[in-house]
Amino acid sequence: ARRDRGGQGRLVTDLRDEAATAFQEIFGRASDGLWSAPGRVNLIGEHTDYNEGFVLPFAIDRRTIAALAVRDDRMLRIASAFTDELVEHDLTQVSPDVLHGWSAYPFGVAWALGEHGADLHAVPGADIYIDSDVPVGAGLSSSAAIECAVAIALDDVWHLGLDRAVLARAGQLAENTAVGAPTGIMDQAASLFGEDGAAVFLDCRSLESRLVDLRLAEAGLAIVVIDTGAAHDLATGGYGERRASCERAAKALGVAALRDVRVDDLDRARGLLDDTTFRRLRHVVTENQRVLDVVRLLATDGPASIGELLDASHRSLRNDFDVSTPQLDLAVETAVGNGAIGARMTGGGFGGAAIALVPEELTSLLRVAIDGAFAEHGLEQPDIFRVAASIGARRDA
Ligand code: ADP
Ligand code: MG
Repeated sequence: ARRDRGGQGRLVTDLRDEAATAFQEIFGRASDGLWSAPGRVNLIGEHTDYNEGFVLPFAIDRRTIAALAVRDDRMLRIASAFTDELVEHDLTQVSPDVLHGWSAYPFGVAWALGEHGADLHAVPGADIYIDSDVPVGAGLSSSAAIECAVAIALDDVWHLGLDRAVLARAGQLAENTAVGAPTGIMDQAASLFGEDGAAVFLDCRSLESRLVDLRLAEAGLAIVVIDTGAAHDLATGGYGERRASCERAAKALGVAALRDVRVDDLDRARGLLDDTTFRRLRHVVTENQRVLDVVRLLATDGPASIGELLDASHRSLRNDFDVSTPQLDLAVETAVGNGAIGARMTGGGFGGAAIALVPEELTSLLRVAIDGAFAEHGLEQPDIFRVAASIGARRDA
């Protein structure tokens, strides 16, 4: 299925003005404030989060904005620029079983905050309007962006004072339970902990995180997203199946999570698993090591030294984890063949986007080469744009 890619590339200031105006039009009064949260690109560490391993995402300069005003009653009413639907629920009645579709993300967050200490019988209701320039379903986590924008807004107006690790957990709980997508904690952590120019190195077991400077500008490098336009669907199919095979592998190996398996243990593990499960394991174990290697190299030799690790990550996702697609492979191969230092699919796979690390002066050339390759293969033109590591969720006005 092809996605509707509406709404991208607008300036954040435009997005803010538009959100405030649309809020006024829909709800007939001014909003109390604007909160926003970014999408993310995962630099490396794919399918490692739910194995309690390591990830290295960064928040991008594409954001989801929530305009909000509190109400005198307990109704929560939510509208989005992406749809004509205005959805409302009594806060005291919100639970995963009454939620479905896009509104399960924001309402799921309200419910999940209740699970993390908010008293949904005592807090005021609210009207919320949402707009975004994060492409939806591209693997850049528009889902975490909407969850985290709503989470910080409600945390603020409900005076919950929850720390950001708890807000990340609430976003994940909403996605897992209200939406039904068995995703890990990475996306919410990136959206909440991101900073300008830095990636978020996250230990998904302890949830400890640390910022890692990317130092792209001083190396003359850019990160380019190649959005293939093929929608992925995390709630169904392959993602859950991959997760299940990781759990099977952990059980067979007698470890709490695949985080506990080292590269040196792989030979021994091979005899205990069927071939497919072994390849799933090998991806996770080697990917965890690659994240650690990238973090170390960024600090010592800078971003120009991580290209081979990005390439190796893509090969592992393609050959061992089987989550790439012909479009993603084409994007990656073409990028590497036309000046990129390294490239890989990013996000859960089965569609979505790839990233390329490329010398700034070669970005136009790269774009032309990828457009050409996709045309040659009779594929629809991908959307190609540069991303910058940006600040995480915050109140904007
Ligand atoms: P990704 O996170 O890679 O963009 P997901 O499938 O995880 O893709 O999440 C996309 C879904 O999140 C959309 O189909 C929609 O239900 C919801 N969503 C994301 N952003 C918005 C938005 N601004 N307004 C309404 N729904 C949104
Ligand atoms: Mg998502």
